[in-house]
Amino acid sequence: MAISYRIDSSPCDHLPMCGCGWRGDPVATKLEALAQVSRHQRRAHPGDSQALAPARSRARRAARFGN
Ligand SMILES: [Zn+2]
Repeated sequence: MAISYRIDSSPCDHLPMCGCGWRGDPVATKLEALAQVSRHQRRAHPGDSQALAPARSRARRAARFGN
């Protein structure tokens, strides 16, 4: 399972936070906050997405060629 994250949104900004304790910079849009989180997770937790990717593409391939 991927590391969890959350976006702490207030009326004027959005603060990205990762399950590991990392906090990004408050930004004006939720989209920017999400981009920061995914950038952080790729850099700080590369093993998590890499562990998921092969299983996911195997499942996709099996679904495509299975029948
Ligand atoms: Zn993190």
